[in-house]
Amino acid sequence: IKRIVLASRPLAEPSHENFRLEDAELREAAEGDVTVRVLYLSLDPYMRGRMSDAKSYAAPVPIDGIMEGETICEVVKSRHNGFAPGDIVRGRTGWCTGAVINGDLLRKVETHGAPVTTAIGVLGMPGFTAWSGLKFIGKPKQGETVAVAAASGPVGSMVGQLAKLYGARAVGIAGGPDKCAFVKDELGFDSVVDHRSENFVSDLKAASPNGIDVYFENVGGRVWDAVLPLLNQFGRVPVCGLVSQYNGANSSQADRLPATMSAILRQSLLVRGFIQTEFAADHFNDFLAEIGPRVASGEIRYREDVVDGLENAPDAFIGMLKGKNFGKLIVKIDGV
Ligand code: NDP
Repeated sequence: IKRIVLASRPLAEPSHENFRLEDAELREAAEGDVTVRVLYLSLDPYMRGRMSDAKSYAAPVPIDGIMEGETICEVVKSRHNGFAPGDIVRGRTGWCTGAVINGDLLRKVETHGAPVTTAIGVLGMPGFTAWSGLKFIGKPKQGETVAVAAASGPVGSMVGQLAKLYGARAVGIAGGPDKCAFVKDELGFDSVVDHRSENFVSDLKAASPNGIDVYFENVGGRVWDAVLPLLNQFGRVPVCGLVSQYNGANSSQADRLPATMSAILRQSLLVRGFIQTEFAADHFNDFLAEIGPRVASGEIRYREDVVDGLENAPDAFIGMLKGKNFGKLIVKIDGV
């Protein structure tokens, strides 16, 4: 098989030198193991955190260790009674073309008839993140305003569409005219603002005439600065991700904290961080039952950005942290 390992730790933006493509042998399958070939690899912002050895909610990838990641695979051989050759499954095999993995760690792909790639996107971890953050923390009410950045991506696109389903107004923030057009015209957000525009701060204010009740935080940095003065009393801020800060410390962060803290106090905000795994064991099946049919019928829309070949994963990943992806980033792999 081929696999990509972490060659060195990036200090700021990752580069090609931080990754190494290498050949590897599959380990011998033991009782309970399943041999799979990888069809699709999910690339996600959290992987930047795994490349760093700073303290976090999950252990870092060791140097020379395989890059972590979730994949959609086809079962080739099975020594586990829950799986048979030909089954389509998802599991955390990492960045590789094939693997031997304990079957207890795999889950059969269930997409209610939608394409299998949705199991790592809109009907997988990112979609669930949006759903659980909104349902358990954001709790939008009828007529309220929900704002979200990275709005064309798998988390943000779901946040806005769910906000609409729950009777709220959805304001999207995205980078560049193409993504903005998609968010408004195809996803049906009520308004969208381009964070790369010179007028971003005033545009966001104009797009939120009644202020913001739920800000689903995906990016941090300048976008947070623009949102902060617009938050209404008793606003809720599910803190889901800070992608604008992942490539290095933001020098002005220290200056921002006092402003953030005083807004939290003045506006009685609820600011609550979360990692989707907190909710997954108890609620993933409810999510799939509620959202799966809506995705399959086309009521909930999504976009995927599919890159071909494992060797192109590092480039695609580096680009995602700068907004080069347009939709859920997936690597298609002709696994062995
Ligand atoms: P996306 O596919 O939306 O990709 C990331 C997007 O972030 C880019 O396309 C870009 O969109 C935007 N972005 C990148 N840099 C900046 C910047 N400097 N300023 C503003 N926007 C920027 O990613 P996901 O939907 O997979 O993830 C969205 C967020 O959710 C991330 O922060 C991620 O870490 C987080 N997350 C958290 C989870 C949890 O359990 N807490 C689980 C899953 C995801 P644009 O060009 O529109 O700006």
